[in-house]
Formats: sequence, structure tokens, C-alpha cells
Amino acid sequence: VPTPIGNLEDITLRALRVLREVALIAAEDTRTTRVLLQHYEIHRPLTSYHEHNKLTKLDAIFAALESSDVALVSDAGTPGISDPGYELVRQAIEQGVRVESLPGATAITTALVGSGLPTDGFVYLGFLPRKDRALRDFLTTVADERRTLIAYESPNRLVDTLATIQDALGDRQICVARELSKKFEEFQRGTVSAVREHFTAVAPRGEIVLVMAGAAETVPVVWDEDRIRTALAERLETGDSLSSAARSLAAESGWERRAIYNLGLDSH
Ligand code: SAM
Repeated sequence: VPTPIGNLEDITLRALRVLREVALIAAEDTRTTRVLLQHYEIHRPLTSYHEHNKLTKLDAIFAALESSDVALVSDAGTPGISDPGYELVRQAIEQGVRVESLPGATAITTALVGSGLPTDGFVYLGFLPRKDRALRDFLTTVADERRTLIAYESPNRLVDTLATIQDALGDRQICVARELSKKFEEFQRGTVSAVREHFTAVAPRGEIVLVMAGAAETVPVVWDEDRIRTALAERLETGDSLSSAARSLAAESGWERRAIYNLGLDSH
């Protein structure tokens, strides 16, 4: 059951009904979930289900599932998305327990849609590696990816991370989506260098999603013959030798140096 990522209104009517109806709610942090339940006057038993007991707790949850439904929630957003959930769902499927996944809030799609970057395909990268070397290696694996890239990052590392992104992926378009659905919600959109400059001046706080444009399509440009002939004539007129003009035009035009040289010989 997805819960709000900031604004308490971002919970569905169905999520509230399910939380009222189940016999047990497995929650990443029972204190956080208790605040949410109190707000909606829901009084159901809670049990903890978090990163450190997500495997040892399975038996107890499946015991409860024998007699009633159990809801799973995380601290915010959709459980299983960079939060505990996957192992429980996997095991439930294997044991023939019916799994219902409720649609709801997640920072991924909220950031993506607000970013203004292409939404037709995207790759969710989870949390970025913390260490610079590991981050660099990881970014290299996605440098040629054409689809929009989405990652979660901590505010403390953001500025350093942007520097590494600029190095590894180039100065492409990016959006830092911060504090989504909360009072200080902010979208910083622009090139990596511009966004980096902004957050170097104003230290970022709160929760952050990084949305990065995919790799640009680089279509190799090959000039047509007329264009080569014109450019060659211009260079020769300025006193360039045929071999030097052919060499420099080869670098720009996608033509072989030899072919340009031969064209030059033909036209004399
Ligand atoms: N399950 C959650 C979801 O569906 O988005 C994600 C949980 S993950 C442990 C927490 C991270 O999600 C934060 O560090 C931040 O990167 C991102 N996040 C969660 N809420 C956010 C918000 N309101 N604004 C921006 N990022 C948020």
C-alpha cells in the first residue's frame, strides 16, 4: 500500500480502506506509520518490517496471512521501491498467497513528469553509489543509455555527484526534484553545470530525485559532394595546399582524406 511522500493528502481512498480492513499492517517504521494512521483515525495492529528483519520476519507475516490479509507499507511512497517489499512479494507469490499492488505515490514518476524530460521510456537506477570511484564506474555503464535516467540521491552528496555526472555523462540536461509535494518543493532544471552552480551557491536540503536526460543520438554527418567541393575551393583560394585542405576537411566531413584529395585533383 503506497503512502504519501510528503503531502498527507496523497493517499488513495482505496489505500485508506485497505488499511482499515486488514488484520495487520507490516510497516518499515511503526512510529512513522502510526502518525499517518492517527491522522486518518485508523486503528489497526502494526508490526515492523524493515531492511534488517525483512528475511527473519517472513515466517511471522506468513503465519498472520493464514487467517487474514496483511498490508505492507514503507515510510513513504511505494513499498518495494528502494524500500523493503520485494522479498515479501516474491515469497507470497511462491507460496500461492494472492498479492494486490495498489497504485499510488512514488517519487520516481512524480519527479519524472515534473522534470520536463522525455517520459516515453526511462530507467530507474535506485540510489546512486556513495563512493566516487564506484559512482564513476556505475555511470559509465549507463553513459550510452538513450532513455531518461532517474536516481535517488542524498542532499549531502548532491554537489559532488553532479560534478562526477558532468565528467562521466557530459553536460547534458538534468533536473533535480527536491522535497516533492512538500512546502519547499523545487525543480531545478538545466544543464548539469548550471544546476551544479545553483546548488553550490545554495546548499540543498531535504529529499532529492535526480532526473537525467538520456544520451543524445549522434548521427554521423557525411557531407554531400557539392559541399565538399565548395569547402575545398574556399580553402585552396586562401592559399591552403591540397593535401592540407584534404586532411582538415576529412576531420569535419566524414569523407576519406584520399577521396577529397582526388576530388581536388579532378577539378584542376
Ligand atoms: N519508496 C519510496 C518511493 O516510492 O519513492 C522511496 C524510498 S527511498 C528509501 C527514499 C528516497 O526517495 C529519498 O532519499 C529521495 O531520494 C526519494 N524521495 C522520497 N520522497 C521524496 C520527496 N518528497 N521528494 C524528493 N525525493 C523523495
